[in-house]
Order: sequence, then structure tokens, then C-alpha cells
Amino acid sequence: MLDIEQMLKEIVGPENVSSNPAILEAYRFVAMGQDMPVCTRPGIVVMPANEEQVSRILTLANRSRLPVVTRGQGTGFQGENVPLEGGIMMDMSLMNRLIEIDEENMVVIAETACTMNLLNYELDKRGLAFPIRPWFSPNMHIGAYIINNGTGDFGAAHGRAGDHVRGLEVVLPTGQIMKLGSWAYTHGYGACFRYTGGPDLIGLFLNSGGGYGVVTKVALRVINKRRHVWYRTFAWPRNKLPDLSRAIYQCQRYGISSFHLQNYWSSRGIINAGLARWPAHSLGLFDEDMVIANLIQVSENKEILELLAKDTTAICLNNIGADLGPDLCQASQGPPYYAINLSTHYRFRPGTAPPFEGMNWAYFYHCTPTLKFPEYWDYFESVVDKYGFHDKRRGAGMFVFPLDAAMLNPYPTFGYRPEVPEEVLRMRKAYTEMQQGLARMGVLAYTFGAFLPKDFMANLGPSYSLMKSLKALIDPNNILNPSQL
Ligand SMILES: Cc1cc2nc3c(=O)[nH]c(=O)nc-3n(C[C@H](O)[C@H](O)[C@H](O)COP(=O)(O)OP(=O)(O)OC[C@H]3O[C@@H](n4cnc5c(N)ncnc54)[C@H](O)[C@@H]3O)c2cc1C
Repeated sequence: MLDIEQMLKEIVGPENVSSNPAILEAYRFVAMGQDMPVCTRPGIVVMPANEEQVSRILTLANRSRLPVVTRGQGTGFQGENVPLEGGIMMDMSLMNRLIEIDEENMVVIAETACTMNLLNYELDKRGLAFPIRPWFSPNMHIGAYIINNGTGDFGAAHGRAGDHVRGLEVVLPTGQIMKLGSWAYTHGYGACFRYTGGPDLIGLFLNSGGGYGVVTKVALRVINKRRHVWYRTFAWPRNKLPDLSRAIYQCQRYGISSFHLQNYWSSRGIINAGLARWPAHSLGLFDEDMVIANLIQVSENKEILELLAKDTTAICLNNIGADLGPDLCQASQGPPYYAINLSTHYRFRPGTAPPFEGMNWAYFYHCTPTLKFPEYWDYFESVVDKYGFHDKRRGAGMFVFPLDAAMLNPYPTFGYRPEVPEEVLRMRKAYTEMQQGLARMGVLAYTFGAFLPKDFMANLGPSYSLMKSLKALIDPNNILNPSQL
């Protein structure tokens, strides 16, 4: 490793390489916890500043047959960003420039580590926005969000983050640098369009967990912000989840702009921060027994928005939803084009969620048809219950995004205390049983990662073999994010 360290220093400068054990230890973990047994420390951390340096690092790794894991902010929680066998950790944080906002073509170009926060801040000044808004950290890298084909608010209207890619600059595992989409043309209009003759090569890199290449720059579609917004929260008792799912399904088919499903554990931060009252008692329900849908409609035209609001309200009332008014939705969702969904901010801000402090969170992300959501949630809660994590401090917390016209992206969670070894072991067992059970039910994986049981891949049949063949072709020494496939 000493020789490698020296060679890496020659590529990126000595200040951007570290083999200090304390620093290496930090890269063993994912940001939110999930102490899984598979993670190891990397052997060395390197921070490239441009695509040429990325290319030289990958060339070196190939020569030395060393695994490389690409790292953004480390907020992915399926083990996609931690090493399994030492090797090189390539932290992309230095490549953080927002390069250009091309208003004529409605495209923004940024380096991979440009944060969602910076991106939205600069777009906002021009009345523009990236169509999808994640729930989590505004500091997540845009390149990581894209490579994971991220989800978030406005997914009902705009799909996943990858649907808005217009161009990618990637470095292949063998070190070759290339641009994709209309960006690839030597004489062309730059990065303005994705489908430009030939198969969709950009698609190969989305949802790949970073196994097919390192993204160095992204070109993304932006949209005009809509001027008028309608917020509303509707509530259903926990035992009426099928009615809630039907209401949401009908809203999706009708054309809702966005919604977010939450329960007591996921809304509590907003209530504790004093931003909205939890009106459960006025409904004669206990907090823990309620599930809410925060609904958003946006429009450029006020009269149209009123009609949308009327129809959306009718759908929820017809499916026995109780109208809780606009406050809770407005407080937890924030301005619709803000960098993140505010419920995250208040959930994790110290002091605003006292019952949860001191917890690590076991997180899951999946895709499921909207009408199957009740069976998904019943199963999730039953496993949380079986392993003794179903209580007032730990959840199960419900965060659910729209994905499409009839799909959902649930993000369930439960808390455990990281300093109690018995609890960590119990969390691991619950985590594995949960994932295996959900895979058997046919639930879809959001992305791959080392913590995900192979049951999900096995379920993919021959297409999984094709993914592996493509990986072998593109990465013959299997050096890049080798745990992904
Ligand atoms: C509380 C919480 C809420 C979350 N909410 C959302 C959400 O709303 N929507 C959502 O989509 N995700 C969400 N996530 C998951 C996670 O935040 C996203 O996947 C995010 O995009 C990861 O960004 P990151 O910068 O932290 O990347 P990391 O976690 O460091 O990396 C994620 C993956 O991307 C790869 N990668 C990183 N950079 C590159 C690159 N330049 N080229 C190639 N591969 C790369 C890594 O190898 C890894 O496989 C949430 C996570 C948490 C903990």
C-alpha cells in the first residue's frame, strides 16, 4: 500500500490522500447508522479534483487490481458506499462546482459533488428548479443522487431524478473519459438532449450503484417554478390503510403534483418544533393510530389550481379521509421547490424530536405499487414488532414518496441504540428478515448495495445475468464498486 500511497499522492497531491486510521475508520460507516457486519475500513482515501485525476486513479487501481469505492456524502444506507475489502475509497467531495445554468436549453451543468442545496439556491434565483426534491440531506452530491436515480417529492408528476438527465460525463472503470447524450457530439449543441441516436447509454449508469463508471459531471433538465401552491393534510386511522392507498392511487391517476405519507413517528419533529399542531385528539384518535397524506398541487394559474384542489379534496373525502387543513402539510413540506422536504430537517434537528434522540436508524428503501402498500406496511410493522422495536421512541416511522402514476417509494425506519450490542444484533436480524420477506412478496429494490440480500437480485432472473455480463465487459478486473452486483 505504501507504493500506492506514493503514486496516488503524485496524482492528486499529498494533501488529498490519507491513510490515517482515524480517517479511514470514518469511511467504514454509512451516515445514519446501520451497523452491519460486512463493512471494512478502506486501505486508503483519495480525493480527486477533476476527471483526469479520476481516470489516472482508476488506471492505477486496474494495474494493481485494487478495489475502488466511489463515495459521495455517505448518506446511502444500503451499504452501497462502504468498502467490503479494503482498497481505495475515492471521495468525490472536491469536485463540487456548479458549472453553468443554460436557461435557453433549460439545463444545469454541475460537477458530481455539487450539493442539492447549492443547485436549488442558484436555480431559485432565476425562478427555476430541479423537478425532484429529495427527503434527505441537502448536502447529498448531485452525481450520487443521479447515479442512484434518486426519488423524492414531485415524483408523481416527474418520476425519478434520472428521468431528468440530459447528459453525463463518466469515467469508465478502465479509465476512459466520455460524455453521453448530445454532449457526446464533437460538433453539436452541447448537453441539451438525452436521446440522440443509438441506445440510451445514460440509462446504463442510472441505478447502477456506481458499478459501471464514475460520474464526474451531470447535465440536468430544469423546470419553471409554479407560482401557486395548494397544501392539504388528510388523515386516516391506521386500520384504514386500504382506503388511504385507494385515495392516493386515485390522486395519482387524476394528476396530483406531489404527496408524502407519514405517521406519528415521521411527523413528530414538526409538531415538537411548534410548527404545526397534531390535531389527532379533535378526531378522537390516538397519535400513534393515524396515518396522514400531505398533498400538494401546483399550477401557474390560480383558477386551475382551485379546480385541482376541489377534485383532490373530493377524492380524499370519498375515501373516508379526514381533512386536517393546510398547516401540517405546509410546515412539513416547506416551499415546494426548497432543497429538501422539511420534515427531515425537523426530525433530526437536536431538541425538536426529544423522544428520538440517541437513536440510530435502520432505513429501508423500496418501490411498490400503490395499491399493494397496505400489505407492505403490515408486513414491515409485524417484523418491527416481532423484534421489539415497535414503541413510542423507535417507530416504525413511515416516509413515503410518489414514484409515478401508480407506484410508491416507501422509506420505512425504526430506531435502535448503537451502544447496546444486543440491540445492534437484534437490529441486524430484523433488517435481514425484513428484506428477505419483502423480496419474497415481490417488492422492488430501489438500488443495489452490500446490505441487500441476494434474494432481490435472484428475483431479476436473466436480466441480472445481463447486468453481470455488461459489468464484466466494462470492468474486466471488477475493481469499481465490486460489491454492487
Ligand atoms: C434519512 C435519509 C433520507 C433519504 N432520503 C432520500 C430521498 O429522498 N431520495 C433519495 O433518492 N435518496 C434518499 N436517501 C438515500 C441517499 O441520501 C441518496 O441515495 C443520495 O443520493 C446519496 O448521496 P450521497 O452523496 O450521500 O452518496 P453516497 O451515499 O456516498 O453514495 C451513494 C452511491 O453512489 C455512488 N456514487 C457516489 N458518487 C458517485 C459518482 N460520482 N459516480 C459514481 N458513483 C457514485 C456510491 O458509490 C454509492 O454506490 C436518504 C438517506 C437517508 C439516510
